[in-house]
Amino acid sequence: MQLHTSSWPEVEAYLTRSKGIVIPIGSTEQHGPNGLIGTDAICPEVIAAHAGAQSDMLVAPTFNVGCAQHHMAFPGSMTLRPSTMIAVIYDWVLSLGRHGFDRIYFFNGHGGNISTIQAAFAEIYADRSLARDGSNRGPVKCKLANWWDYKPVYKYCMDTYGKSHGAHATPSEVAVTQYAYPDAIKTAEMTPKIAPSARYTDAEDYREKFPDGRIGSDPSLANPTDGKKLVELSSKGLIEDFAAFVAS
Ligand SMILES: [Zn+2]
Repeated sequence: MQLHTSSWPEVEAYLTRSKGIVIPIGSTEQHGPNGLIGTDAICPEVIAAHAGAQSDMLVAPTFNVGCAQHHMAFPGSMTLRPSTMIAVIYDWVLSLGRHGFDRIYFFNGHGGNISTIQAAFAEIYADRSLARDGSNRGPVKCKLANWWDYKPVYKYCMDTYGKSHGAHATPSEVAVTQYAYPDAIKTAEMTPKIAPSARYTDAEDYREKFPDGRIGSDPSLANPTDGKKLVELSSKGLIEDFAAFVAS
């Protein structure tokens, strides 16, 4: 069930069954020579849509621009400052909390978002912890999970791609987008075959170290068949983990 395509009476009825909601959260940033700019938003969105069609799970709109300052030397990338992103997550959670949602599951597609999402959770919890007489707002619990976190997904990535998986513009995430958008599949020469790995700071530093945008990966290995498998595996993990979170 998608929030975007529900009516308010349907949401009101859902709230009598469940107080949980999934928010796909990603980024809009370069993903190497053959990866789509929207990869990190597309992956959690597509997996959550799959899960939401198979179970009683409400899926919110995708939070599709995240913390990607280090990708800003590549055309098309967009970013929020961490402080902006914290403020926006805070308002999204409060909006949902206003209606009675109290289990907010952030389903993430971008490693660079993790520390900021966690900081936003700390801001939300601090409101209640610091309230002099106890907050009059109900206790909202937030959870962060990355779409690749579930054990069978991680195992599939390692078994299929091994040393070529890498850390950015990975074959697994490119495969998921190829399954989701077969008309947008790109091909490109990967030189070197496996991209370098290193630490980085700002956008200029990143582009100097990773000239084609990849880190440690060979995304030419991606294919839509693997993408379908990854969507199914991750969707199964999401359904199970969300149910446990809602029941907690
Ligand atoms: Zn990515």
